[in-house]
Amino acid sequence: MAEPPKTLRSAADVARADLVPADALPALERVAARYAVGITPALVDLMDPDDPQDPIARQFVPAAAELETRPEELADPIGDDAHSPVEGIVHRYPDRVLLKLVHVCAVYCRFCFRREMVGPGKRQTLAPAAQGAALGYIRDHPAIWEVILTGGDPLVLSPRRLRAVVRELADITHVKVIRVHTRLPVADPEKITPAMVRALRAGGKATYVVLHANHPRELSEPVRAACARFVDAGIPMLSQSVLLRGVNDDAATLEALMRSFVECRIKPYYLHHADLAPGTAHFRTTIAEGQALMRNLQGRVSGLCQPAYVLDIPGGHGKAPVGPCYWHKEGVVGSQAPTYQICDRSGTLHEYRDEAAEVKSRNITGT
Ligand code: SF4
Repeated sequence: MAEPPKTLRSAADVARADLVPADALPALERVAARYAVGITPALVDLMDPDDPQDPIARQFVPAAAELETRPEELADPIGDDAHSPVEGIVHRYPDRVLLKLVHVCAVYCRFCFRREMVGPGKRQTLAPAAQGAALGYIRDHPAIWEVILTGGDPLVLSPRRLRAVVRELADITHVKVIRVHTRLPVADPEKITPAMVRALRAGGKATYVVLHANHPRELSEPVRAACARFVDAGIPMLSQSVLLRGVNDDAATLEALMRSFVECRIKPYYLHHADLAPGTAHFRTTIAEGQALMRNLQGRVSGLCQPAYVLDIPGGHGKAPVGPCYWHKEGVVGSQAPTYQICDRSGTLHEYRDEAAEVKSRNITGT
C-alpha cells in the first residue's frame, strides 16, 4: 500500500515533488538553511504544476530571491522583541497582549514577518515554567482585556494543551476576549477536529479565530468545512491576508478572496501591507498600489467584504490604517462650517458642508 503523502520539509523534498527544477536545488538548500520550509499535502494539491507563476506555489515554495536581503529589511520587522516584558508575551497596546506559545507552524510562508523566529531550530515552544510566568503577567495586569494566541501557529498544539491554556485564561476575570491567529485550516483542514473546537470553547470566554489566507483558491471545500466547524460552534471568524506581489495584487483576485471569506462567514478584517522581513522584497507592492487596489475593491464589493488596509509601522510602533483616503478638507466657508470633498465609489467628488461643526462652534463661542 502506498504511503500517504507527507509534508515537504526540505529543499530536496520540494525538488523531489517536482515543484522546482533540479538545478535550483543548491540555491534553495541555502534558503532552507536559513528559513524553515513546510508544505503540507493539502497545499501541494492546490498548486497548478503547469503554471510557473502559480499563486499558491509562490507563497510556500522556497525561491532563490529569498537570499537577497535589502538594507531596509529587519530581522524583527514589527518590533515584537522591543515589547516583550516576559518570554512569550508581546505587550504593545495597553488592553491586549500576544501570547506566543509555539514558534512552529504547519506550513512556512515565504513572506513570513516572523521568519527569523519560527521553524525548527529557532525559538522554542514555551516551557511549562515560562508559560506559567506569561500567564502570571496577564493575571497581574488588569488592563489586559484581550489575549491573542499567535506564534507560530497555536493550533499545532494538541486540543488537551489548548484547552488547558484557554481554561487558565478564562479564569482571569479581566480577560474578556481570546483571539486565535491561525493558518492551520488552510494548511491541514482535517486537523480542525471537534475536540479542537471544544478546546477553544472551554471556559466560555468570547473566542475569535482569525484565519490567514491570501488567495481565493486557499478556500477549498475541505477548508470551508473546517471553518464551518468553528462558526457552527459559535466561534466567530475574521480574516487576515497579506498583500503579495504575484499572489493577490490584482483587484479581481482580492475581490474573489474577500467574497470567499464572507461566503464562509468569515469577516474580512486586515489586509496587511507586506512587512520588511528579510529576503521578501519580491513580494512587496508599493503602498500606492495597495491603496489603488483598496479603492477598486470599494467600488466592487459591499462593506461586509472590506478589510482594513494596514501597515505595521517598523520598529514596533503598532498598526496604522494606510488608506486610501476618501475625503479632503476644502476649507472653512463663511462663518465656521468646514467643507469636505468626499469621493464616491466611482471616483466622483461630492462636496459635504459640515454644518454640525458650525453649530458646535456657535454654541461654544455663544454667537
Ligand atoms: S503561518 Fe504565520 S507565523 Fe507561520 S510561517 Fe506563515 S505567516 Fe509565519
